[in-house]
Amino acid sequence: MKIIAVGMNYAAHNKELHHSLELSEPTIFMKSDSSLLKEGKPFFIPDFSLEIHYETEIVVRIDRLGKNIAERFAHRYYQEITVGIDFTARDIQNRLRSQGLPWEISKAFDNSAAVGEFVSLEEVGDINQIPFHLMINDRKVQEGNTADMLFSVDRIIAYVSRFFTLKIGDLIYTGTPAGVGPVRINDHLKGFLGDRKVLDFKIK
Ligand code: ZN
Repeated sequence: MKIIAVGMNYAAHNKELHHSLELSEPTIFMKSDSSLLKEGKPFFIPDFSLEIHYETEIVVRIDRLGKNIAERFAHRYYQEITVGIDFTARDIQNRLRSQGLPWEISKAFDNSAAVGEFVSLEEVGDINQIPFHLMINDRKVQEGNTADMLFSVDRIIAYVSRFFTLKIGDLIYTGTPAGVGPVRINDHLKGFLGDRKVLDFKIK
């Protein structure tokens, strides 16, 4: 399986990271299969970064094989979503980005893709109107709504499937809203789709 992620998909987050790009296409990067962190397992802060940020994102699970998918048919390729964390070594990302270099190591390192329990869209409703949020130590630190995405889930699927064949089990991290920040040892993270808790794990 592969993990495809979208950068800069919420205008307010782009502002917070001081990006002023006018994007005509989604910004895509990949995370590795060894980046997957599931079933509530703890996230261990790696020794190569002093600034690991959480990015709370809606994650879509592909459940049908597809290539060159038209946007109007993209909804047929997924039925389940959840909340995930796109952990980012922000110090490494900023250094590489300032040098104009690829920043894969800041995004695709082991266990950097935490993923919650998947819920069917029948239960959560319209993919384009889904509220989600992250609590750290019982304080709400980040919230968003898929209505605020610059590129919708269906548009992302149409775009990425021009380049990558989508396979059953592939995951798409759809970008983070404003409010990213650092995690620290002993933090307790809980991710919610609406009021429903789908993600619950600790930082070690
Ligand atoms: Zn992200």
